[in-house]
Amino acid sequence: MTASPHASTLETLEATDEQVFKIIAAEERRQADTLEMIASENHASSAVMAAVGSCMTNKYCEGYPGKRYYSGCAHYDEVENLAIERAKKLFGCKFANVQPHSGANANLAVFFALLEPGDTYMSVVLSDGGHLTHGSPVNISGKWFKPVHYPLVYDQARPDFGHIDYDAVETMARQHKPKLILCGYSAYPRIIDFERFRKAADSCGALLMADIAHIAGLVAGGSHPSPFPHCDIVTTTTHKTLRGPRGGLILTDNEGLATRFNKAVFPGTQGGPLMHVIAGKAVAFGEALKPEFQHYAHQVVRNAKALADELIRLGWKLSSGGTDNHLVLIDLARSGVQTSGKEGALWLEQAGIITNKNTVANDQRSPFVTSGIRLGTPALTTRGMHEVQMITVAQLIDRALKSCGEASAIEKVREEVHGLCKAFAMPH
Ligand SMILES: *Cc1c(COP(=O)(O)O)cnc(C)c1O
Repeated sequence: MTASPHASTLETLEATDEQVFKIIAAEERRQADTLEMIASENHASSAVMAAVGSCMTNKYCEGYPGKRYYSGCAHYDEVENLAIERAKKLFGCKFANVQPHSGANANLAVFFALLEPGDTYMSVVLSDGGHLTHGSPVNISGKWFKPVHYPLVYDQARPDFGHIDYDAVETMARQHKPKLILCGYSAYPRIIDFERFRKAADSCGALLMADIAHIAGLVAGGSHPSPFPHCDIVTTTTHKTLRGPRGGLILTDNEGLATRFNKAVFPGTQGGPLMHVIAGKAVAFGEALKPEFQHYAHQVVRNAKALADELIRLGWKLSSGGTDNHLVLIDLARSGVQTSGKEGALWLEQAGIITNKNTVANDQRSPFVTSGIRLGTPALTTRGMHEVQMITVAQLIDRALKSCGEASAIEKVREEVHGLCKAFAMPH
């Protein structure tokens, strides 16, 4: 018997739809030939991709294991139960819902379960490193509910410049009496003090929610403190540092909340679960439970520190002055260059280094231009890179950002990027 019942899916595709096959093949080459430094991206294993590309895409499984609305769900119950058990073990909690299609869907389900329209909750604003689903006026989280945003420390003279302003969190909690306090961010390079948030939540009777979409892999691998037992609710994506398929996850220790979340995911906000993706989540959680993943998570952080240190040595100013996790935010404005985040990210892309423009605290530029560049080490670490390569990468970034878009300078960086990509093949 062969190991894979539905093998060679891409070869089959080449024979049946050459147009789509060529696009996917070109994307495979792009990923191999560039340095992926978007902090929210990673390279999932072939095992994860095999599960996501499997026949499990074919089935309707509305409901939960043992309580489905359709026949023929036995194997789906098995795989969903396995994903749930592994998720609980990985994060050390009692309940898991593995059905959210994405991080945004996980957050929507939690809001739907816990808040009434117009209810107040506290979070960080998008431009300070928060997420769209944490109260942006263009998102349902901002349109239907009332976000109150707590600040970072904006005073550059303070040693905790760029960190969460925990004193303000406590004051604002007493002042606004939110139903929910939300921590966890998309562009925050420091450790989150979940205990301090717990104190603030207790002072006003709020529930505490951590959205660990970015740092889930670090939490799972032990290189960032766990939100448990301090947080009532934990949501995450599965495809960022956790290195699984694109998807979401809701975790809690509270049985009453778990029941509400199950109803809020289905039938509250979703229909049939993506069972092929849930199979991929089970595979990814299995990978993350292995000791190798602990090494990976610690190397991600060591690599980010090495990257940050070399950028600082080269004269770049970083948001909060450095990093404790997987990401680094270059503050171009404070670094004294005219370059915007938009220009910088473009020059880096031309040099084969894939990043994104990002607002920094007190950004004077619009969100479409920005004064920051966000960099992450999860994907490069997956390719097997260590601190030495991060020093090289920092120097390449420095040269691309100082090129002012000059073609021959960028081309030279591009050649060295090619060399690095060749030396560090894509993982299997
Ligand atoms: C990425 C992210 C999400 C949303 O994830 P999607 O899967 O893109 O919906 C939610 N919260 C935070 C903090 C994130 O960084």
